[in-house]
Amino acid sequence: MKAKRSLLSIGFIVLLAVFAVVMVRNSWRTTVVPYDDRVGVYKVPEYGLIDRPKLEWESDYQSLRGEENLPPEQYEVIGYSVEGREIRGYRYGTGDTKLLYVGAIHGGYEWNTALLMYELLDVLESQPHVIPDDVQVLVVPVLNPDGLHRIVEIAERFSPDDAPQFLYATEITDKEALEYGRFNARDIDLNRNFDCEWEPIAVWLHYPVNPGTGPFTEPESIALRDYVLQEQPAAAVFYHSAVPGGGVYGSSCGGVRADGMSTLAQVYGDAAGYPQHEDFAYYAVSGDPGDWLATIDIPAIRIQLPTHTTVDADNNLRAIRAVMNHYATQ
Ligand SMILES: [Zn+2]
Repeated sequence: MKAKRSLLSIGFIVLLAVFAVVMVRNSWRTTVVPYDDRVGVYKVPEYGLIDRPKLEWESDYQSLRGEENLPPEQYEVIGYSVEGREIRGYRYGTGDTKLLYVGAIHGGYEWNTALLMYELLDVLESQPHVIPDDVQVLVVPVLNPDGLHRIVEIAERFSPDDAPQFLYATEITDKEALEYGRFNARDIDLNRNFDCEWEPIAVWLHYPVNPGTGPFTEPESIALRDYVLQEQPAAAVFYHSAVPGGGVYGSSCGGVRADGMSTLAQVYGDAAGYPQHEDFAYYAVSGDPGDWLATIDIPAIRIQLPTHTTVDADNNLRAIRAVMNHYATQ
């Protein structure tokens, strides 16, 4: 009888211990928006893209599509990737207030962000009058050219038809995701390699990713860091994909936000028709470049395009123009 009772209490203690371990392991999940394995999307509220009137710039922009005689592109090389590919910086306008746009930090996995940046280059190249006098626009269309090259076999312009078609991360397996070129050529996630709350163990969804051996170990992150320190932009926008309905995510480091960050998020979100979020809270992101910018008081936002294949150029170009106009009147 006594032995039976002590067996029972041992069983109870074991159960309690298992429960405690499970609770601790999952505790971080309670603070984030959960990822739904069954349907393969984040459990975010359904937001429709807001139908907005076309702007004059947009109709001009539409008429440019298919035009072949665009002026030659001029760019500066701001650094080289692990495999020696150029990381290019484009500059339009001559004003003192610089606005920085960065695409494809996650390479071929988010190839649509590179296409959006190319669309932006075309508009700025052919319609420089849209840039207010006191503004200068800096564009780094592809921060991770090796990752992009791994997928589309080119780190320059490409057709969306030559890129893999998948709407959301869950449509690809783990191994394929790596092959889809999210990381740089040393398999490091550049978006975990910046100097804000850098962690040796970093995650993407529920997968561990390699953040490097410390902040700024990768030539691509170093290139962007040095470019930012040299140019001192008034604001920065980073492009990612994908969250259904799109989204604008604020940045901060240790809870400290740069001046003007919330307004920047609002201006972009209102014009694009994307919902705005204080932070990216689906899973823990350490070493993010936008958060690093908060440490030097430069407001930065992260944009999530609605899918991995949608460029959503009209909404984003409208928002980029709204940001230009916002900073022009500062
Ligand atoms: Zn990304």
